[in-house]
Order: sequence, then structure tokens, then C-alpha cells
Amino acid sequence: MAKITDFRCIDELGNEVPCDAFGNNVAVRCPRCGHPILAIALENQRGFSQDKPAACRSCRFECWITIERGEFFGLHPLINI
Ligand SMILES: [Zn+2]
Repeated sequence: MAKITDFRCIDELGNEVPCDAFGNNVAVRCPRCGHPILAIALENQRGFSQDKPAACRSCRFECWITIERGEFFGLHPLINI
């Protein structure tokens, strides 16, 4: 995945996840299959809360993100769907 910003994404285990961000859009690499997952870092948009997760189009893995300190993303897998 091309990288154009310095944003970093950390998963729940503290491992770095390949990602990129542009404006309010965040693309992360699906931890399950490697397909890009697009999330929108705005309230009530997909991928920004547990209630509105972003889904991988390839394997249906679902997750949401949190932004910390303006440059770190936390990636949270949605479990117990
Ligand atoms: Zn996937």
C-alpha cells in the first residue's frame, strides 16, 4: 500500500498495521486477508465506532478505529458480531 502520510496504526496487541490517511479517510490493511479497508474518521461514519464498523470487502472482517494524539490510529476488530 502506498504511503503518503506519517500516520500510524496500531492494533489491539500493539503491532503496527500498514495504513494510510487522507483527510478524514483512513485506509488500513485488513489483518486477516490484506485487502484495504476504508474507514472514515468522523462521528457516525463507518469505521469510527463499534456500532458502525468498517468492513473488509474481501473477507468481511469488521473493525473500527480510534484516533489518538492526532496521529496514531487504534484498530479494533469487531468480535461477537
Ligand atoms: Zn479482509
